[in-house]
Amino acid sequence: MERRFLGNTGIEVSRMCMGTLTMGPLQARLSPEEGAELIVQAYERGVTFFDTADLYGTYEHLALALRRIPRERVVIASRCYEYTYRGMKAAIHRALEALGTDYIDIFGLHEQETALTLSGHEDALLCAADAKRAGTIRAVSVSTHAIEVVEALGDRHGVDVVHPIFNMRGIGIIDGHVEQMAEAIRKVRARGVGVYSMKPLGGGHLLKQALQAIAWVLSNECVDSMAIGVRDLRELEIDVALVEGRPVDEGALQRIACDKRLFIEGWCLRCGRCVKACHQGALRLGPSGLEVDHSRCVLCGYCVAQCRDFCIKVL
Ligand code: SF4
Ligand code: SF4
Repeated sequence: MERRFLGNTGIEVSRMCMGTLTMGPLQARLSPEEGAELIVQAYERGVTFFDTADLYGTYEHLALALRRIPRERVVIASRCYEYTYRGMKAAIHRALEALGTDYIDIFGLHEQETALTLSGHEDALLCAADAKRAGTIRAVSVSTHAIEVVEALGDRHGVDVVHPIFNMRGIGIIDGHVEQMAEAIRKVRARGVGVYSMKPLGGGHLLKQALQAIAWVLSNECVDSMAIGVRDLRELEIDVALVEGRPVDEGALQRIACDKRLFIEGWCLRCGRCVKACHQGALRLGPSGLEVDHSRCVLCGYCVAQCRDFCIKVL
């Protein structure tokens, strides 16, 4: 698989980054052993870049895989929501311990919604910069669904990598169109910020045009790598083939397209926490309970993490 450098970071990554949200407790619920096996299978197919987060619950899966893969051969990215110096320090420490490694390649802020949100996390970014100087992380990152945040990074020194939502229909962008996001990405990439995008298939909505959707993201020279969530070996093989531009079985793609959906359990208490967590406007409390607008849902899993009663599942 082709590899590229992530901006000016000096970190070389495969063009496919394997997203681990999908395999973890918020989605497919693979055991750490099953997840580790999938990660090793990806590595054997040329994937050297793995994405996780404090929220995803997949550190153990990666830690087990790292016992079977030379640490220096792979790049690990993680992030957290912390906004204080102390909170970020604790999150980095937590990740180092849980992953069983003495450095994390890319660590930063998760899901920044606006430029203002980013400013509110300044202390956490300062901590990440200190961790970079100390060698516990190699690059500082920000992930976002907002064009405004990518634009704000253009003026902000100290952020090395951005992880924006980016797909050919602009699905999941919360403040504008795909052309505006492409322009914002191009500008920060020109300043040396590494770009690994997320959701090339729009959370499943573009699976029926998967070949075209993946090729479209890769045709953007400003995108160094893109994260694709993987749940099983069948999906892994299809995703690797798509990234490498090889033909895939249409029937298999259709089956994957039909079998991913958000599901609400009957014991939902209608507390509304998940509704506030959804920036896509895909959830609302209706007269008969929590309702999902599947046409807006990008299967990001943020609502799943908010439900203390485990009522929301991606099945
Ligand atoms: S957070 Fe859970 S209990 Fe509350 S409304 Fe959402 S699904 Fe229901
Ligand atoms: S409903 Fe949940 S999974 Fe779907 S977009 Fe909203 S937060 Fe993400």
